[in-house]
Amino acid sequence: MSSLLILKTRICLKYVSPLFNPSTAGFTPLNNVISKLSVRTRLLCTKGVSRHAANNRKEDRQREFNIRERPPFPKSVFAAGTAKRTAEYQKKRVEEEPDFPRKNKRVEPPEHPLTASEWKSLKLTSPNPDRFDVRMMSSMLADGTDINVAKSLLAYVAMDTGTLSYELLLRYLTLCVGGSHHSEVFDMYDIMRSRFRTLDTGASSLFIKGFSRTERWKEALTILENIKRAITPSPRNYGDTIAGAVLHGDGATAWALYAELMEKGLIPNQETWQALFQCGLSHQGHEDGLQSILLHMRDNQIYPEETLVKDIKAWFESLPEQKWIGSWSTVHPRGVCRSCQAELESIQLSQEEYAQLKDRVMGDVIQGRDVFNKTTPEELESFKNFVKRKPTFDVVIDGLNVANIGIKGNQSQTLLEVVSELERQGLVILVLGRKHMQRPSRSWDRNDMSLVQQKAHCFFTDNISEDDPFLLYATLHSGNHCNFVSRDLMRDHKACLPDGATRRLFFKWQRGHQLVLSSYTPGKRVRFQRILTYDTIVQTNGGSWHIPYDENGAERCTYEVPQKWLCLTRAK
Ligand SMILES: [Zn+2]
Repeated sequence: MSSLLILKTRICLKYVSPLFNPSTAGFTPLNNVISKLSVRTRLLCTKGVSRHAANNRKEDRQREFNIRERPPFPKSVFAAGTAKRTAEYQKKRVEEEPDFPRKNKRVEPPEHPLTASEWKSLKLTSPNPDRFDVRMMSSMLADGTDINVAKSLLAYVAMDTGTLSYELLLRYLTLCVGGSHHSEVFDMYDIMRSRFRTLDTGASSLFIKGFSRTERWKEALTILENIKRAITPSPRNYGDTIAGAVLHGDGATAWALYAELMEKGLIPNQETWQALFQCGLSHQGHEDGLQSILLHMRDNQIYPEETLVKDIKAWFESLPEQKWIGSWSTVHPRGVCRSCQAELESIQLSQEEYAQLKDRVMGDVIQGRDVFNKTTPEELESFKNFVKRKPTFDVVIDGLNVANIGIKGNQSQTLLEVVSELERQGLVILVLGRKHMQRPSRSWDRNDMSLVQQKAHCFFTDNISEDDPFLLYATLHSGNHCNFVSRDLMRDHKACLPDGATRRLFFKWQRGHQLVLSSYTPGKRVRFQRILTYDTIVQTNGGSWHIPYDENGAERCTYEVPQKWLCLTRAK
């Protein structure tokens, strides 16, 4: 079918364009077409596109979550899916925005291959004939349209314009690779290789993926080598070649590639791990390698997805003589696995971990350069002296943030109720506030504020200051037992932290020390969400493994943790 297309294209070009010399052998006409195109045309790299889109989605979610309102769900803010539900709830509350007509109206791919004249009339009747071919091919990609329809489009474009743009060809190649049309992929490879000495990354990545699934999988290794001469290949490039090796029973090559990927400091995809576990399932050995993957997940606070965790379970259960039994489980709030009753690792930081975190946060976030955008060194110094004079605190409250949870115009009452509840628990409290809170107004009642100051130690910063550095300083200075109350999740500060290990400690500390109001109704008793006692992380004690995993389709923000676990124990 593919050679038919090339033939058709050639004939079409020959027919319409005297520029092409029909006597030249091979695919010259199409090659001529390609040679006119810049290699640097905007590339269609599926990986890049999807990652960009994913980032946008993530930012959107985070932005939505930043709205400071009481969450409608009583579950822990760190539970997977909470941010998404909150965002949806917020969205529902916002009045529906009017629908703006979309600028680039989508073109609908036809159901059957069209003739050139049919394509022509479709293009002419389209509301926007500009870049019709590329937009049409994109729609086909999105819909997974039959490859023959795409071929008929290429034939028409070649005949109509005498040229096939690089952009269009790459989209076509993506369609071929996505639909596993192997012979079409081989044809495209021959065409492009005969024209260019090297292939660009977008096309190379597609060819690696395409070749890996076929008997010509070893050529993917050659393409990978070619990429390496110019740039570091992507984790996806490695993943595809590893999957190719596994598929064709070459475990040694798969593991060698994986070692190379890790050496380069790349972050492997879940599919890559899945391929390796599947490899371990069909070939014995590689136990150390597979266990090191699990430990890598632990160190980097990565959670396997449901499809991967199923393969992990199957692999454990396949190990001869070891008698592993896997079961799907959840964890009791006390930190006990509901399946095997084992106690999970505590959320509390060890003394060394705590000292390390405190050191880095004090150095990088509080003393760091960025803090002077938010406060003055003098103010920070006077705060430090204030803290030194006081006893150690049990709980530090972000006053403004907490006050804004309640009804507008009644901030001081909200703050007072929160402070009163904590005082009832016999805690030593610090309230961080702004100077304007001390000036009586409709929001800040004089009596409320004077009661707050009787029940808690208070420090009021300049109106321009940001509270977070003060909150972090006071909480960390007070010690590992000290908690804090804020709706903020302090993402900015995590970004300031120098390395992954410290960021993970910060994240763990935050989950173990942040008190969040579960619900607030003026006049009713204030309640806080429970702080989980256990840490959600891949863990083992030799005799058992506990692996938290992401359920299919469940969206989880970076600061949330999964709720489902794989429990692996040994039969006695
Ligand atoms: Zn268990």
